[in-house]
Amino acid sequence: MPSRYVLPMFPYPSGRLHMGHLRVYSIADVLARFERKNRSQPTKRIPRSSSLPNNQRISNLESHSNKVIFPIGFDSFGLPAENAAIERDVAPAEWTKLNMNAMATQLKSMGTSFDWERLVSTCDPSYYRWTQLIFLRMHQQGLVYRKQSIVNWDPVDQTVLANEQVDSEGKAERSGALVEKKKLEQWFIKITEYQNELLNGLDSLNWPTRVKQLQKNWIGRKDGFQISCEIDGQNEDISVFFTNPDAVKMAEYVAIACDHPLIESSAIPCKYRPKLLQTAKNIQNSHFTPVQKAALGCSTGLFSINPVTSRRLPIYLSGAMPSEFGVGATFGGSLLDSKDAAFAKQNGIPPMKENDSIAVDFDLEPFKKTHFRLRDWLISRQRYWGTPVPMIHCSSCGIVPVPEADLPVILPENVKLSGRGGSPLASCSEWVECQCPKCKGPAKRDTDTMDTFIDSSWYWLRYLDPQNDKQICDPSLPAKHLPVTTYIGGVEHAILHLLYARFVGLFLFKSGIAPGSQDSEWKGEPFKLLLAQGMVTGQTVKCKTSGRYFKPEEIEWTGEDVARHAWTKDTHQCFELDAETPIVKATGEVGAISYEKMSKSKYNGVDPSEIIEKYGSDCTRLAILYKAAPTDELIWDERGIIVTATAASEASPQIVDTSKLEKELLFALHTAIKEVTHAMTTTFGFHVAIASLIKLTNHMDALPTSYHSHATFKDALSGLIQMASPFAPQSSQEMWANLHPNEPRTVHEIPWPSVSEAALKSDSHVCVVTVDGRKRGTVQVPRGAEKSSIEEITWDCEEARNWLFDANTGKRVQFGKVIVVKDGAVVNFVTAKKA
Ligand SMILES: [Zn+2]
Repeated sequence: MPSRYVLPMFPYPSGRLHMGHLRVYSIADVLARFERKNRSQPTKRIPRSSSLPNNQRISNLESHSNKVIFPIGFDSFGLPAENAAIERDVAPAEWTKLNMNAMATQLKSMGTSFDWERLVSTCDPSYYRWTQLIFLRMHQQGLVYRKQSIVNWDPVDQTVLANEQVDSEGKAERSGALVEKKKLEQWFIKITEYQNELLNGLDSLNWPTRVKQLQKNWIGRKDGFQISCEIDGQNEDISVFFTNPDAVKMAEYVAIACDHPLIESSAIPCKYRPKLLQTAKNIQNSHFTPVQKAALGCSTGLFSINPVTSRRLPIYLSGAMPSEFGVGATFGGSLLDSKDAAFAKQNGIPPMKENDSIAVDFDLEPFKKTHFRLRDWLISRQRYWGTPVPMIHCSSCGIVPVPEADLPVILPENVKLSGRGGSPLASCSEWVECQCPKCKGPAKRDTDTMDTFIDSSWYWLRYLDPQNDKQICDPSLPAKHLPVTTYIGGVEHAILHLLYARFVGLFLFKSGIAPGSQDSEWKGEPFKLLLAQGMVTGQTVKCKTSGRYFKPEEIEWTGEDVARHAWTKDTHQCFELDAETPIVKATGEVGAISYEKMSKSKYNGVDPSEIIEKYGSDCTRLAILYKAAPTDELIWDERGIIVTATAASEASPQIVDTSKLEKELLFALHTAIKEVTHAMTTTFGFHVAIASLIKLTNHMDALPTSYHSHATFKDALSGLIQMASPFAPQSSQEMWANLHPNEPRTVHEIPWPSVSEAALKSDSHVCVVTVDGRKRGTVQVPRGAEKSSIEEITWDCEEARNWLFDANTGKRVQFGKVIVVKDGAVVNFVTAKKA
């Protein structure tokens, strides 16, 4: 049986789990436990030992992985650790370690069954050594290069800022300075080299359509035409790309993007230059909304000659022109597009008249061209807490890669972090100064660190062989265990993380670092199936006029005993309230309820630890999984947790007919097995599965206690506990041990129950056979059968034989009437009245 690989996205070690984590790891754990049960041997036990000698390590991991690989780790590089260092003077490594320990404890308290032996942490040199190796191998193959690129520059702190350090108004979060754009030499990875494969590969993936569409749009293949237009009065041409074949005939102007090289060209007339550069800067600034940007435009003072119509077209910088569209220049025309029309009007560009659009006979075929929106991956970060770029700058040899044998290039400790000045590593001279590997002369280390998306782009491979210190992964393992069977994570990672992981996966496969084998499914796409779990939202109460969020303690909820009337600030009217209406204690106004993504600022967050502490992990898991399908939004409401402690059902006084109960119970059990198995394997409808288990529980709960000692009841109870075990692992095991005190295996090692089609086919029910109102026996009849056939079947009732057949003749008694009651629940034979 091939192994299964259940992989939830690993967390960033922020220090505390949030409800989104609780959801993703609950979903993943249910799947892993289910897959493990499916792979359990009916009798064999595999010992679990964490303290095996090193040479047995892989074989031990492998013996488990014949079943299910279910790893966890930490995406532990990144900005928050650096910020914590600046704010609280704690070393990023120390802060991260504390957080990882705290989160590991929380993950364990959820009752998860991760393979902790596979733990990886991306900030550990034993991990990032291989991140550096991947970078070097890419460099070897010409997939890494340096280029000038624009960064966010804080002019006060003299430092490069990540996008998340720039607020919505374009100001630096820390210094408050208006962020500038600055050009800097940066490292790039040529992801565009793989653009066709990244696009075409999507077809083979079992991923949600919307996620595939997002990837498609991001890669953005555009088929169109590209022609070269002469710039009037210059010895220069401008390439123009367009997808609408009519554009060339109807062009009124050429629109260029804000980073088009023409903007800085000496061809721009002096009087246009200042305004042009300022407009380009404004378009690039992140504090403009897309709509505001689209409205920005400015003439370059240059004209191009349309080679088809010979019309002189003004060249305009346009905020509506995406720089990733083709070559950053296209035709605009008021007859082509309403937005173009608005732009032309706003900038006073003379419109083309209807009869100007001459039907030029022009063959566009030779000008066909395909462009991609995808741009190369800028991986340089002028940050401390990341994987150091393993490159050395030598004044005589140029840029020299660190030899693989010298890896890892370890991040130095005790680097002063202030958030000011250039790259923090540059200040660490004893680290920067090094020897050139080529000429052995003095040289300097590269002081950039890598984008953390690199660290998370290949962790799924390292999990297969996390402690290998000779290789990134034993080359026999990828073919055995890849691709990941089910990858589970938030849809917010739908574009970048998944794209980078796919790209790196293809590279690892092709470069032979993670080879496949002839008959393996592994072809470089890391995640076969993606389960994109929905958001967790919590209830917020806002002020209806100001939109301010209220804290829970500011609110009083109306209930039965609270006044049923309130007033609104805006209309000063009294109105009737629903039973659950939030009233602001201080003012008496009515708050507006909404459900939004949990966040501190909205006071709607919930601490998972508190919930687990209060209700226990099993109950919390069930509440999360039962409330919504994994892919849907989960509205978290603690009031939804009902701790049911059902009292044992009253012993029924009537006589128990066990054969009837048995058939019905088996039917209920196998219906549940069928429904739960289907939900687990095809739809991931865990909420549906739990509903089936509840239905079975209710069925069993209604049975008389005298039946509880019956073997079928015990079997059904075993089945119920087994099916509940992935969802509520701890209580299931407790019940299992009580039910089977002599069973050495835990419930988690017992194979998943299989459906008995026979039990389902016997879709029959019990019919009580009475003669003149007295019960004489029972018989099984098919559900929904015709009255006449039910009557016919009851004649075969063995127990009632003495009453139905004449003892002397052996023939059927002549009854006066035979009444089939309630679809055959009872059939009453009524003796003919003697005259
Ligand atoms: Zn050198």
